[in-house]
Amino acid sequence: MFKTILLAYDGSEHADRALTAAAELTRALGADLHVVSTPEPDMPPVVLAPYGAIVDAPPTDAQIAEAGAKVTGQARAALRKEGVDLTDSHILRGDAIANILSIADACDADLIVMGRRGLGTLRALALGSVSQSVTHQARLPVLTVA
Ligand code: ATP
Ligand code: MG
Repeated sequence: MFKTILLAYDGSEHADRALTAAAELTRALGADLHVVSTPEPDMPPVVLAPYGAIVDAPPTDAQIAEAGAKVTGQARAALRKEGVDLTDSHILRGDAIANILSIADACDADLIVMGRRGLGTLRALALGSVSQSVTHQARLPVLTVA
């Protein structure tokens, strides 16, 4: 049933647990495994001196590329330990939710695997905003790993 699995990976411990589950399914089912990641580089706030306002500067292409290389390197190394080769990795800037859904379409995935939580620090809710929206919006099965 599951021939193409898409792992949404943000480099968090939760995503690492999702990676382990995705690797096990990939091996057991002889499936293809894709990874999608929207890098979230730590951005120092920029002080706009004339206004005294503080805003988050959008990451530059170089920062996105650097963060993307780091996060996919981490995923590839962890998958190698699990004995699984990636079919492809997709690093995209912008909105993580839209990117996960559009890559699921583009690679014709039949299962998305992701963590229940991610890099965020708010622990009050069971699901993070990305796992919640993807679960609600996806037209394919989503496995959220605790
Ligand atoms: P929030 O971001 O709402 O503060 P959170 O970080 O705890 O909460 P989510 O962002 O929903 O939780 O993360 C849940 C899962 O979604 C992660 O384990 C990962 O699988 C996936 N995910 C989250 N952000 C990204 C991202 N930027 N790129 C790829 N996958 C992501
Ligand atoms: Mg998050």
